[in-house]
Amino acid sequence: MSRCRFEDLIDGYLLNKLSQEETEHFEEHYFNCARCFSKLQEREEIIRAIKAQGPALVENLEEKQPRWVSWADEIWLVLNNRRWVVAPVLAALLLMAILIFSPFSREQPPSFVLNGENIVRGQAINLISPIIDVNQIPLYFEWKKQGEDLQYKISLYDSHNNLIWSASTKETRIALPEEIRQQMKPGEKYSWQVKALSSTGTLVAVSSRVQFMIKSD
Ligand SMILES: [Zn+2]
Repeated sequence: MSRCRFEDLIDGYLLNKLSQEETEHFEEHYFNCARCFSKLQEREEIIRAIKAQGPALVENLEEKQPRWVSWADEIWLVLNNRRWVVAPVLAALLLMAILIFSPFSREQPPSFVLNGENIVRGQAINLISPIIDVNQIPLYFEWKKQGEDLQYKISLYDSHNNLIWSASTKETRIALPEEIRQQMKPGEKYSWQVKALSSTGTLVAVSSRVQFMIKSD
């Protein structure tokens, strides 16, 4: 199977090292790329195990390699450079031990369904309101619940697709702050979108971007 050029972004994504733009670009891609998607799930478990075992180890690795390289490259570098301390090697061995011997340290990955050739990557989030036209500037945004222990990130855009507001919540409804409401104008079109993130911050579901207009009468 040929390598996907987005694979290099997986570790950076999981460690929050990508820019906002890169993150969005990557999220759009991996949701539709079976290869990146399964790789991401693998790596997420590895990173989660390492973080659980010792945040210091992760920091250590990050400091030494400001431009992120893959864990495999990291281990390779360590083995080829005696001046490097043994901590990363131990970390790698510890990690293997954890993955092999401790089933309890594996949390369930986010609820994706793999069904033969068809890969269903979570469900689309259904937006409840506002949709289509509304009579007044919305007070709340509301959507359907996707699962347990998810963080929802909402983004609101103006008619030129500029982000005018973004917020996160564990609820399925969020109030639109007064200062944002005051910027919004009747007669204008807006759109909004919700993304659901797992407890470790990976994207598990997205809504479509829904447009609404505030009636101007
Ligand atoms: Zn890919």
